[in-house]
Amino acid sequence: MAFINELLNGDFMPHGHCLLWRTDLLLLHVGGDTLTFIAYMLIPLALIKLVRARDDLRFDWIFLLFAGFIFFCGATHILGIINVWHGYYYIHGIIKSMTGIISMLTAILLWYLLPQAISLPGKHAMEAKIVELMRAEHELAASNQRLEAEVQKRTAQLEKMATTDELTELFNRREIMRLLGLEIARAERQGSALSIMMLDLDHFKAVNDNFGHQAGDRALKSAAENFKQQLRITDFIGRIGGEEFLVILPDTDINSAYALAERVRLALEQQTTENPSIPSCTASLGVAQCLSTDDLHSLIQRADEALYQAKSNGRNCVYQAPD
Ligand code: GH3
Ligand code: MG
Ligand code: MG
Repeated sequence: MAFINELLNGDFMPHGHCLLWRTDLLLLHVGGDTLTFIAYMLIPLALIKLVRARDDLRFDWIFLLFAGFIFFCGATHILGIINVWHGYYYIHGIIKSMTGIISMLTAILLWYLLPQAISLPGKHAMEAKIVELMRAEHELAASNQRLEAEVQKRTAQLEKMATTDELTELFNRREIMRLLGLEIARAERQGSALSIMMLDLDHFKAVNDNFGHQAGDRALKSAAENFKQQLRITDFIGRIGGEEFLVILPDTDINSAYALAERVRLALEQQTTENPSIPSCTASLGVAQCLSTDDLHSLIQRADEALYQAKSNGRNCVYQAPD
C-alpha cells in the first residue's frame, strides 16, 4: 500500500543523481559508453556484410533484425554520453523505447525461429550426406562407363552386321559396292590403275543337290576363305549374290588382275582335290580394268560379260573384258 501511495502522490518520480561528476566517475561512464557504442556500430556492419556476402544464408532477416536492435542499443549509449553534459532526456527516452520495441520483436521472432533453427542438419549430418552423395555419384559414373562400353560394343556389332555377310564373313553387297565407288573415285583422282574380278562358283546348284544345303554352305565358306588367302591386304572382297563374289584390286592393271584371277582359280581347284570333306567346286572368273569412261555400273557390266564368256567357254577359267 505504501508503494502504491508513493506511486500516486508523486514521490515515485526520480530525482537526479551525480550532479557533481568526479573525473574517475566521468571516465568510467563515458569510457564504457564510448566502447559499447563503437562495438554496437561495428556489429551491425559485420552482420549486414555477412548477409550480403552469403546468398545461401537461411533466415537472413533475423541477422538484419539483430543488426537493427544492436544499432539502437548503440544509439542509447551515445545519448548516455551526451546526457552527461546536456539533458536530452526525451530523445534518449524515444531511442530507448525504440530499442525496446525492436529488441522485443527480435526476441519474439527468435523464439519463433528456434525450432526451425534447431532442426537444421548439423555438421555431422551434412558430412554424412555429402559422403552418401559422393558414393552415389561414383556409382553413377561407374554405371555410365559400363553403359558406354556396352553401347560401343553394340555399335561395333551393328556396324559389322551392316557391312558383313554372315556366312562367309566377307563384305556384303552394299559394302563392297560402296567401296568400289570410293576406289573408282580414288583411281580417277590419282590416275592409278584399278581392276575388278567377278567370281561365280560352277554348277553350284549341283553341289547342293548332291551333298545337301549344309555341305553347300561349308563349300561356300571354304571357297571364300580360299579366295581371301590369295589376295593382298589392300584388296577388297565381297559376296554379292548366292555364290557370286566381287574383288576390288586397287593399283592393279588388267594383266596383273588376270594373273591373280588365274591363281585364285587354281587355288580353289587344288583345295577341292586336296580336301575331300568339302564338296569340290571350281569357279569361273571375269576380270576388267576400270577405263576413264567407266562408272561403277559399266565396270561391273564389263566384268560380268567376261564372266559370262568364261561360263560359256567351259567354266573353271578366266576371261578378261576387252578395253
Ligand atoms: P553356273 O555354273 O552356271 O553358275 O551354275 P550354278 O548352279 O552355280 O548357278 P545357278 O545360278 O543356277 O545356281 C546357283 C546356286 O547356288 C543355287 C543355290 O542353290 C546356290 N546357293 C546360292 N546361295 C547359297 C547359299 O547361301 N548356300 C548354299 N548352300 N547354296 C546357295
Ligand atoms: Mg550365280
Ligand atoms: Mg554358279
